[in-house]
Amino acid sequence: MIIAVDGPTASGKGTIARALAAHFGLPHLDTGLLYRAVGRQCALNGGNPDDPFDALTACAFPDSLLAEPELRSEASGGLASRVSVHPEVRQALFRRQRQFALQTGGAVLDGRDIGTVIAPEADVKLFVVASVEARAARRFAEMRATGRDVTLDEIAADLAERDARDTSRNAAPLVAAKDAVTLDTSHLDRDQAVARAIAIAEERVRS
Ligand code: C5P
Repeated sequence: MIIAVDGPTASGKGTIARALAAHFGLPHLDTGLLYRAVGRQCALNGGNPDDPFDALTACAFPDSLLAEPELRSEASGGLASRVSVHPEVRQALFRRQRQFALQTGGAVLDGRDIGTVIAPEADVKLFVVASVEARAARRFAEMRATGRDVTLDEIAADLAERDARDTSRNAAPLVAAKDAVTLDTSHLDRDQAVARAIAIAEERVRS
């Protein structure tokens, strides 16, 4: 069984994807981390994330980079959203994601284009959304908990900029697959959002 979980930054898709993976006993891939690694590697190379050649060169990042805490920062998220506009980068990361999706027994992947590009045949497709206010408040709490010095306004501005870039790019823009179920987590806490996602997935699997 393949489960695709797409949605914007801080919508709760990562938490939901991990919970679905645990519930169904499936492996999970956070595909945003791959784009974050490309963005970070590009910066480490002294490259320009807006240049397709520099961004493509950074796709050869070492796997060890995926464990770096720095990848979770807002700065890495911003770099990821810049390198991810290049079709060359999306193509370079395609195989790795597709192979993960097609492994025996299935998998859960979360990202922006899982249900539309990486695994259009997914058995369950969730499109997780939340208001900018709710997402900014969550991200702010996360950043503060990890000791990062940011303001709520900075986070909200960053989210709005990233949303605009992710939804307006030509290559695999953030859009719900036609057969995705939209889950709005604005007014749900973690447990409620997870319970709702599991109920949707179980219903899809049964039908
Ligand atoms: O999900 P996360 O915030 O970690 O993703 C970082 C950035 O990577 C996103 O803003 C988006 O631009 C890009 N991304 C993407 N396609 C994916 C996953 C992430 O373009 N499947």
